[in-house]
Amino acid sequence: MLYLVATPIGNLGDISQRAIETLRNADVIASEDTRHTGVLLKRLGIERPQLSFHEHNERRAAERILALLREGRTVALVSDAGTPGISDPGFVLVRRCIEEGLPFTMIPGPTAFVMALVLSGLPTHSFTFRGFPPRRSGARRRFFAIDRASPHTLIFYESPFRLAESLEDALAVFGDRRAALAFELTKMFERIERGTLSTLRAQVETRPPKGEAVIVIEGAPSASEGSSA
Ligand code: SAM
Repeated sequence: MLYLVATPIGNLGDISQRAIETLRNADVIASEDTRHTGVLLKRLGIERPQLSFHEHNERRAAERILALLREGRTVALVSDAGTPGISDPGFVLVRRCIEEGLPFTMIPGPTAFVMALVLSGLPTHSFTFRGFPPRRSGARRRFFAIDRASPHTLIFYESPFRLAESLEDALAVFGDRRAALAFELTKMFERIERGTLSTLRAQVETRPPKGEAVIVIEGAPSASEGSSA
């Protein structure tokens, strides 16, 4: 059986009891970074063999995991933080398990975009999660433009190093919509900034972020509503 196990996105207290039990009972723990997961396992007092599973070896490592599953072993898959398969490896393994009829499930837990969406104050009833925008400005603007007319709240992941340029491109594509930035969720310096794309971009320029961030942008006003600003 394969278990996709969500782990904390910052605060260790967010690990679930089921996650701990699943990791403790796994024959093998497949992890994105064995050293990083080693620190978590050590803190939890868990000693299990680890297998490396990351974006650069995902297909090959997936076959190794499938071989273990066919033998009836229990494998737990974790990423460095949050939910495996959400902007992290996991999808390929899920697809292969479905193809082979192998059983799998998930131990749910933290994921950064849900927390950022809820804390943003922007509509939560309908949203689009787009993961990481491309690194280059031209590709990023085309990526943003796909959702320019979408009425759904838009959510993106971004590294602190590219946040200012991403906000600049978002402003160029979406106009000065309401938006929020969620920094270092569940950690000591957790911070939510709410404003518009231009005010947030100005803030990021004067106070460069140190930690990880989620960008949440309001959807396009529907034709019948006019501007929601
Ligand atoms: N699998 C993870 C999840 O379920 O959210 C996402 C992993 S992805 C490689 C890392 C990105 O998620 C970061 O660049 C950031 O955009 C977002 N992220 C993860 N942890 C975060 C946190 N504690 N605070 C804010 N953003 C976070």
